[in-house]
Amino acid sequence: MGMYDVDTTGIREEKKPMSISYHMPTRVLSGVGCVMSHAALLQEYGKRAFIVTGSQSARTSGALRDVIGALEENDLSWVLFDKVEANPSIETVREASVLGRENGVDFVMGIGGGSPMDAAKAIAALLTNNLDDHSLFAGSYPVAVPPILCVPTTAGTGSEVTPYAILTDHASGTKRNMGGVELFPRLAFLDASYMKSLPWTVTINTAVDALSHALEGWLAVRGNALSEPFALTGIREMVHALNELAVLKTRGTAAQEIPFDLRERALHGSMFGGMTIAQTGTTVLHAMGYCLTMDRNIDHGLANGLLMPGYLRFLSRRMPDRMKQLEALLGLEGLDDFSQFLLSLFDAPESLPLHTCEAYADTAIQARNVANTPVPVAREDLAQIFCETRVPKQVVSH
Ligand code: NAP
Ligand code: FE
Repeated sequence: MGMYDVDTTGIREEKKPMSISYHMPTRVLSGVGCVMSHAALLQEYGKRAFIVTGSQSARTSGALRDVIGALEENDLSWVLFDKVEANPSIETVREASVLGRENGVDFVMGIGGGSPMDAAKAIAALLTNNLDDHSLFAGSYPVAVPPILCVPTTAGTGSEVTPYAILTDHASGTKRNMGGVELFPRLAFLDASYMKSLPWTVTINTAVDALSHALEGWLAVRGNALSEPFALTGIREMVHALNELAVLKTRGTAAQEIPFDLRERALHGSMFGGMTIAQTGTTVLHAMGYCLTMDRNIDHGLANGLLMPGYLRFLSRRMPDRMKQLEALLGLEGLDDFSQFLLSLFDAPESLPLHTCEAYADTAIQARNVANTPVPVAREDLAQIFCETRVPKQVVSH
């Protein structure tokens, strides 16, 4: 047995001395209409809000309407930046922060999936701090970061409860993690009715991301007795949600017809995933996923899902006892069954050329979360996982 024993409930029995640090300063408000019913809270954060969104979903989900309603009810003014792209870039958050500074905003409200919420955090840090591209990722912000409030419209990243903002760095060709306790949102409004407009693809891909957070957090070196319950709940909720979603999808149910209870369960599950990685960080799986996103424009959650079977197989070879426990948690016959279930959710027939697998491995092995992976990992291990992975057919644009 390795570093820890696990009983049948999956609760880890620490063999190392207990040394736990836990910090979760985000106030979570959940339920239909929670933005409007807690509108008065917005007064605590200043007079002028900077609303940060993607191009459409904040509007189509109804979340932007509610946020503006809540601000206006309290005589607060607002400025809107609605140009956050998927996997937001350093350039985008810099452009937004200039607009925010010019308009003297006091706090930032991110509405959307992980992309606008992460952008909101980075923008908040840049509103008060002059950070060059290097110090942006150093994790320290000398001047107080303005309050950040988040309204998720996907059930996936859990960014509404994490201290991370993932930005695309075109100069280095990688996705990089800005982190720091200052980036924890002050408030997170979880209203699953905003998820009604989510199409099937985003629903599935983001749910897989949430599962990945809970699962990686459960595996992570930095996991501890206080992150464990969040990880276990996240795994349970997301496995349940994905199973139900798979059944509905097979039956041909329209995405708008996905039951509210299931949407809400996925939203809470993704919050548990976020609360887990807020403590534990992710493992090398996330770093590997970034390669697929950067190079082949594969959605973040899908990238993690495609790599997960190979990653779990690799871990099973290295720490079979711990992975046996995971099998029990995933509630299937075995990891192979789970992997097959996962792959049945995606249309991914293509393998990656060897030189590509090696190039991705060269990038991923440099990531900080390699050290958070529960077994030692070599560049060759990562190349092998990439080679075992199947990806969607690449769309060639003319
Ligand atoms: P996303 O990039 O925020 O959004 C994906 C797509 O879904 C966009 O086209 C978006 O439209 C649309 N969409 C969002 N909500 C919708 C709704 N309710 N109805 C209809 N369409 C909707 O996707 P995401 O997976 O949530 O976030 C991914 C990003 O989060 C990545 O950059 C990833 O690295 C990061 N991430 C961060 C953390 C963290 O802890 N901070 C953790 C994991 C991942 P619009 O563009 O119009 O909004
Ligand atoms: Fe993620």
